[in-house]
Amino acid sequence: MSDNYLVIGGDGFVGRWIVEMLLKRGEKNISVFDIVQRYFDKEVTHYVGDLSNYNDIDNAIRKSNATSVIHTASPHYGGAPNELFWKVNVDGTKNVVDSCIANGVKKLVYTSSASVIYDGVNPLVNADETTPFPEIPMDVYNETKAKGERLVLEANGTNGLLTCAIRPSGIFGPNDKQFIPPAIRVMEQGQTKFQIGDNSNLMDWTYVENVAYAHLLASDKLFDGSPVAGEVFIITNGTPIPF
Ligand code: NAD
Repeated sequence: MSDNYLVIGGDGFVGRWIVEMLLKRGEKNISVFDIVQRYFDKEVTHYVGDLSNYNDIDNAIRKSNATSVIHTASPHYGGAPNELFWKVNVDGTKNVVDSCIANGVKKLVYTSSASVIYDGVNPLVNADETTPFPEIPMDVYNETKAKGERLVLEANGTNGLLTCAIRPSGIFGPNDKQFIPPAIRVMEQGQTKFQIGDNSNLMDWTYVENVAYAHLLASDKLFDGSPVAGEVFIITNGTPIPF
């Protein structure tokens, strides 16, 4: 049986890819919750609201009759005051979890980040899902993403809710505004003539379509007794490349 999907942050980069992938595979019940509406499709129901306000998100989860909630919303890395990261990634994610439990939602997939296990100092080599969170988080973005992830995973099994988290690395692809456009601006402004380090650092990246597909697979595989429930999955494109 197919699900009623609610994509939180569904008008953002990753969220929109997820919505379009759901549309492409012929899903009939797709809703989006976002603080801004950027797309106006007739096949998708849009709810505009702030996820840090319980009533806003609860209204969307209830009215959309969601059976699968995919939560991609977060302030941009490095692009918001500390308080906003706490408000959206922790308080907001708690609102999502509480509302899913209260409304008997079956599945919750959370977009975390591969960087939640990085402390910003010690290189991670061959890290995987068993690598623990660092004692001192790299920054407020990663600290709050990790706390949000934990809230989602701890809710697994409560009132029938099954949860898991996807940890993408740096995401690239059509509609990206965070990585490639600023890199092009740096090139255009001739600001590439300095180098920090010996240029041997490696970094994982993930193509956005793979990230979107991972979310759909995760949702599809969340069922009673599934080994996916309560787990995190790092999603990369394979071999790391120089950063
Ligand atoms: P994005 O900014 O394009 O999308 C996020 C969406 O969330 C936006 O549409 C925004 O309007 C919405 N949003 C923000 N605050 C909200 C609030 N309070 N209430 C409702 N909606 C709100 O970002 P993205 O690049 O698509 O990132 C999606 C997810 O992937 C995020 O959780 C991010 O932490 C994670 N992630 C991103 C990257 C990357 O390289 N872009 C890497 C790893 C993890």
